[in-house]
Amino acid sequence: MLAKLFPDHYYNSIFDINLEDLKQDGIKGIILDLDNTIVARNSSVATEELKGWLQKVEAEGFKACILSNNWKQRVTGVAAQVNLPLVARAAKPRKGAFIRAMEVLGTRDDQTVVVGDQIFTDVFGGNLAGLHTILVMPMSNHEAFHTRFLRQLEKLVIKRWQKHGLHSS
Ligand SMILES: [Mg+2]
Repeated sequence: MLAKLFPDHYYNSIFDINLEDLKQDGIKGIILDLDNTIVARNSSVATEELKGWLQKVEAEGFKACILSNNWKQRVTGVAAQVNLPLVARAAKPRKGAFIRAMEVLGTRDDQTVVVGDQIFTDVFGGNLAGLHTILVMPMSNHEAFHTRFLRQLEKLVIKRWQKHGLHSS
């Protein structure tokens, strides 16, 4: 069960993700978390850097969508700015959330990667659903109160991961 907490890859940000590696792994679809993964928490603005990266992702032949547990209008606004399909109110880490996203992408589990900043929703959920997983560092340090506890646990897991080099790929 502990192994399900470890991502296949770990990057500082989405911009560091090696798209060539993903292709070689047979990835066709990318499921992106929203808060602290593609925009800072509470931000309503898609940056030019994000837009440029998404254009590259599309040009390389990947399909992408946003999967967020959030449901506020801000989330819809960000998705519209980057022109990506959105699955909101997703209830990650439940498997159904990832299945909904794969239906949107038209990809199978082994062709799909989940990218997110939280181990217990994005990585754990993605692994349970049988997808590839990428963990990125959260963009903002202004964590909402309810995520702080999980963040501490995540730090422990990452430390252990770095120390022992445990990963599933
Ligand atoms: Mg997040």
